[in-house]
Amino acid sequence: MKLARRLQAIKPSPTLALNSRAKALAAKGVDVVVLAAGEPDFDTPDYVKQAAVDALRAGFTKYTATNGIPELREAICTKLERDNGLRYTPDQVLVTSGGKQALYNFCQAALEEGDEVIIFSPFWVSYPDMVRLAGGTPVIVPTREEDGFAPAPDAIRRALTPNTRAVIINSPGNPTGAVYSRAALEAIAEVLRPHDCLIVTDDIYEKLLYTDERLGISDVAPDLVPRLVVVNGMSKAYSMTGWRLGYIAGPKPLVSAMQMVQDQSTSNASSIGQKAALAALQGPPDTITAMVKEYRERRDFFVAGLNALDGVRCRMPEGAFYAFADVRGLLGRSYKGNPVTSSMQLSEILLDDFRVAAVPGEPFGADGYIRMSFVTSREVLEKGLARLGALVKALS
Ligand code: PLP
Repeated sequence: MKLARRLQAIKPSPTLALNSRAKALAAKGVDVVVLAAGEPDFDTPDYVKQAAVDALRAGFTKYTATNGIPELREAICTKLERDNGLRYTPDQVLVTSGGKQALYNFCQAALEEGDEVIIFSPFWVSYPDMVRLAGGTPVIVPTREEDGFAPAPDAIRRALTPNTRAVIINSPGNPTGAVYSRAALEAIAEVLRPHDCLIVTDDIYEKLLYTDERLGISDVAPDLVPRLVVVNGMSKAYSMTGWRLGYIAGPKPLVSAMQMVQDQSTSNASSIGQKAALAALQGPPDTITAMVKEYRERRDFFVAGLNALDGVRCRMPEGAFYAFADVRGLLGRSYKGNPVTSSMQLSEILLDDFRVAAVPGEPFGADGYIRMSFVTSREVLEKGLARLGALVKALS
């Protein structure tokens, strides 16, 4: 069938594809260890669910304003000021169906054919394709694990051109879990300061921190705030991935343009979901603290287990909930007489023969790595490590 040509430049989300394959195997009764998901195993907190139930019972089931209910946009402004020191007015906030839609709206509203967006690799798989879908060109700037996956200022400088429309910063990042230091952020700010580009900060993992300090670009460079676009959402911090609630804040003309995109595509985010998001933002902070404490224990256990495997090395992530393991030590070895040459091939063997779903590094722009989520139960993590160990033993 003839399909739109612009789709030829993009691929289906490999993480969603792998997850669906793993879920389909599990549905058939196969005992699969799923470490591929980008979502925590905790349930949404009860007080958040209750707010949605109350909204439903009260008949809050109609369209809302496209940009979201005023009380939620107010609460988002309060959150941005409290947590990030950012002063926005509610008309600078757009409530979206997840952080994903927020970024999609941004690309549609801000990019023209030929506009470039700088993305640091390893990157979240959707960034480049969202840029391409809007007719833009992703410009990938590689980072090094030795630098804590923060970009080298010279590499950014080389990537900047008069066509650079935006730069995306994601700290803590997916898939690395890296949190940029103050020095790294200052260096980024210094390079970007003379350039007239937007700075998108995707803060979706901001609350999932295993280190004392996490700064945003606005903390080190308040002068860049007029060019800042903040993306965030409920999915990761409040275990609300299925609710599809996120938001974006930034300069008013951009927010109005994004609202227009949303007006003509999906309209408002779910009405009861908005009430749940409001409750989440206004709820006690210790809900998140308790989850993060548990995630930290799982992280410590899982990363130590990975590092004990011959040929596997894993940096301790400071945030988010992924172990991003360097498996280059396994590449070049043979499995059943055939050489294993890529992390993609390794992930396939892992799923097919060892029943572990882990995402290969290639779609994140990082061959030689695999990403595994550690926000699952201790038993599942133990089983996953045992199966990874069996794979390592089977390689020669
Ligand atoms: N940004 C990053 C880096 C992510 O990893 C994700 C989800 O995996 C999102 C944004 C979007 O999340 P959601 O659309 O569920 O809010």
